[in-house]
Amino acid sequence: MKYVSTRGGSAPVDFLTACLAGLAPDGGLYVPESYPQIARPEAGMSYPEVAAHILGAFAGDAISADTMLALCEKAYGGFAHESVAPLVQLAPNRFLMELHHGPTLAFKDVAMQFIGQLYDWALERQGKRMTIICATSGDTGGAAAGAFAGSKHVDLVILHPHGRISPVQRLFMTTTGADNVHNFALEGDFDQCQSIVKALFAEAGFVQQVGLSGVNSINWARIAAQSVYYATAQANMGADHPLRFIVPSGNMGDALAGYVAARCGLLSGFDVMCAVNENDTLREVLETGHMRRSTTIATPSPAMDITVPSNLERVLFEASGRDADKISALYGAFAQSGDVELPETIAGPLGCMGFSARTVRNAETLGEMKRVHARTDWAICPHTAVGSLAAERAPVSNATDIVLATAHPAKFPETVSEATGVQVGIPARCSGAVGGEEVFSVLPADQSAVREHILGLAAAR
Ligand SMILES: *Cc1c(COP(=O)(O)O)cnc(C)c1O
Repeated sequence: MKYVSTRGGSAPVDFLTACLAGLAPDGGLYVPESYPQIARPEAGMSYPEVAAHILGAFAGDAISADTMLALCEKAYGGFAHESVAPLVQLAPNRFLMELHHGPTLAFKDVAMQFIGQLYDWALERQGKRMTIICATSGDTGGAAAGAFAGSKHVDLVILHPHGRISPVQRLFMTTTGADNVHNFALEGDFDQCQSIVKALFAEAGFVQQVGLSGVNSINWARIAAQSVYYATAQANMGADHPLRFIVPSGNMGDALAGYVAARCGLLSGFDVMCAVNENDTLREVLETGHMRRSTTIATPSPAMDITVPSNLERVLFEASGRDADKISALYGAFAQSGDVELPETIAGPLGCMGFSARTVRNAETLGEMKRVHARTDWAICPHTAVGSLAAERAPVSNATDIVLATAHPAKFPETVSEATGVQVGIPARCSGAVGGEEVFSVLPADQSAVREHILGLAAAR
């Protein structure tokens, strides 16, 4: 199994190299040279067994089957629900896939717990240490802190937009007490945090000096690990049963994982609706082919306050017929102007891939949380509510809707209480993860400030 860059300017690499690097050296994203055809999971397989089966196909010769199973068993052993991604019925012909049973209560744990095991195993073998940098709109940072706190092989640097994430989200990353976890609150929005990370990866000398690696939603291991629960959903609903997945989307990593599962033969078809909040440039590009950067608006679903969805690049790469030159030119132009029209040779095929999108407005999000609570007595998180309302409004179809529940309501207690009057407390199993003293520094949203701080950490080690 080899991985190639969407921009065509980097040599093909194996699974481990692709995962440890995060971004390809040419600024593109790694994708498999070709999609492996993966046998559907057999009845009775446990989640770690299904994960090892699918991730083993993506890893190829890079990791033995025994090692992969051991990594998956460790990764998923800490989940509060044995099924990891259980389906619960929300309405007639509509299910929630609960992805929030991990240690930091968001779906990011599903991939990040695996990545933590993968990195530790690989770096131990290679005798290396790395600096992982991660920009977070709220949940990736906590999940990364949960996966890497105390690791002997990794320094974790987390950038979050100051004052723009929920207090509970912040606690999960700032209270680990681990001396290898470093939190910087940047005075800017998430798109700025993400672009600083991208820019630092372009500094080859710096990347080399600190052993820089990224675990943002561009990291191939995340996409691969997320494709697993699409496969278990299909297996649980019946191999041929038509499914429509409604995916609360920001960087589009989760939605892309569904596409990957379909390409590998793990789904009966492909129908993914990206549910977005008022930051809906993703809907615009899918519907009109107009791709533009925009100022982010604060919404009740902050993990989706993103206007430049990084994984769209992988989707456009496929839509272009894997034309790396075209993608390179497109993103070059986009970096300059922040506003491009997709050429028809990309926009046309994009419209036929099976992705759709729907926007849910701020007030509607709270209304949906209230409606779901009234009908089922469940509190759902605001991101999940964006998905559930998108499903409610979607055209009637013969498919069963699977709405991805991306976070636990306890991560957004203020919003849940405003919408429903219900007070949700953090589950007792997490009290250890949020109980310590908060440690983070506030920095300007500036590339050189972040670089200097990281160099300072490396020097102090
Ligand atoms: C990250 C996140 C999303 C968006 O996922 P993407 O893969 O970035 O599209 C949605 N909901 C929650 C709770 C998240 O943490």
